[in-house]
Amino acid sequence: MTTQQPQQPQQPQPYKKPLPVLEPETRPFWEAAARREYMLKRCSSCKQFHYPPQNVCPHCLSSNTVWIRGSGYGKVYSYTITYQGGGPGYAEEVPFVLGIIELDEGVRVWSNVVGIDPKEVKVGMVVEAVFENVAGQGIAIPRFRPRPQKKA
Ligand SMILES: [Zn+2]
Repeated sequence: MTTQQPQQPQQPQPYKKPLPVLEPETRPFWEAAARREYMLKRCSSCKQFHYPPQNVCPHCLSSNTVWIRGSGYGKVYSYTITYQGGGPGYAEEVPFVLGIIELDEGVRVWSNVVGIDPKEVKVGMVVEAVFENVAGQGIAIPRFRPRPQKKA
């Protein structure tokens, strides 16, 4: 007699890094990221974008702010390469790049630069947002990769 084990579905790897906490001011950003959209807050009074998302504009203190779908395009403003250490989920990925990305909308965001050898990353490199699904969490984490350039 043989006992057949039921086929187990492929279990995704557990996500070990900290997950974003969805606060009322940031929830729309994360919900959009799960749809692969990069949403930004823009002030209707002074017309400037800001990040992180806030209900009150940090430039002019207006509470007249709205969500706008950003391009997801930007440039590497600055970066550092991490070669060792890091907590759970990070140690397995060294070396990795933590960068400041200046989005085309004018705001700067912290993010990882992925899809490239860390040694090839350059200040001014044109990048685009990509979204890493967090298995089973309904969350996607935006990161940035080099944006293919059209041939001149
Ligand atoms: Zn403003």
